[in-house]
Amino acid sequence: MKKTIPLICALILGLSSLAWASSEELVVYSARKEHLIKDLFQTYEKATGVKIKYITGKAAVLLQRILAEGDNTAADILLTVDAGNLWHAAQKGILETVDSPVLTQNIPAHYRDPANQWFGLSVRARTLVYNTDKINPKELGSYQDLAGPQWKGRLLLRTSKKVYNQSLVAMLIAAEGNEKTAGIIKGWVGNLAAPPYSSDTKVLEAIAAGQGDVGIVNTYYFGRLMKKNSDLPLALYWADQAGDGVHVNVSGAGIVKSSKNKAAAIKFIEWLSSPPAQKILADANMEYPVNPVVAIHPQVASWGSFKDNKINLSRAGELQAQAIRLMDMAGYK
Ligand code: FE
Repeated sequence: MKKTIPLICALILGLSSLAWASSEELVVYSARKEHLIKDLFQTYEKATGVKIKYITGKAAVLLQRILAEGDNTAADILLTVDAGNLWHAAQKGILETVDSPVLTQNIPAHYRDPANQWFGLSVRARTLVYNTDKINPKELGSYQDLAGPQWKGRLLLRTSKKVYNQSLVAMLIAAEGNEKTAGIIKGWVGNLAAPPYSSDTKVLEAIAAGQGDVGIVNTYYFGRLMKKNSDLPLALYWADQAGDGVHVNVSGAGIVKSSKNKAAAIKFIEWLSSPPAQKILADANMEYPVNPVVAIHPQVASWGSFKDNKINLSRAGELQAQAIRLMDMAGYK
């Protein structure tokens, strides 16, 4: 019914099918903030004539909204951060399986759903950051090492309630198993210099202020803070380079199952994975392009290159409940 009304209008107005196609419109429910998507979406509109409408909100709220709206949802695409959130959306059955050679070609396998329901579009690295006045980076190693007695009263962490840490711990479980990971988290909690902070930026500021020596953050928060004040005694350290590599995560998208514009939505996501869009998307938040042919922003590249963890990010979703349970048991607030 929804489809036939505009079609009837188009017929009454005597519009050609071409005019109908050019008024094509997609609706994105975005957990990414407006300033990170506005330019990107406008670029696509200008190039194709396809209007991209969007609402922004918290990941969990947008997911609930799509569930509540059911078949009547206006959403064609869900855009969100963290593989944990994307995995949840897929589990709830709201995402369509997309068979796209373009997406398969542009996005490395470990950054997309093995069942093709969600696709990573930008990469964020969650690694160690340290106070350069207090630490010789030679002391640092892996996430696991931060559980050791040498870090007693020196570690700062963000709250375990944040999905970023749930995904990090889930990936540790994937690599190390339950028992060993439980021990690592207990070690972290025992080493904390202060109760967990509500944001990565607060962790960075506390380390810069000398309240702790080392922490774990997403690199773009480091980039943002250093842009404001390049004199801060902070540096990144690429974790676990002798082991599995840095924990990476994605922002990404999936096509909503009840979308009435799937073909256009696929084209749009394919474009988001293409070099020109990747450049805008990654640079807007000092992230890494997911498409390996795209150059990394010079400031981001200046932090150095690293080996990333190649375990498929769907594990971050599959093991999320277990990760939360282990953090809870360890008293990680
Ligand atoms: Fe973030």
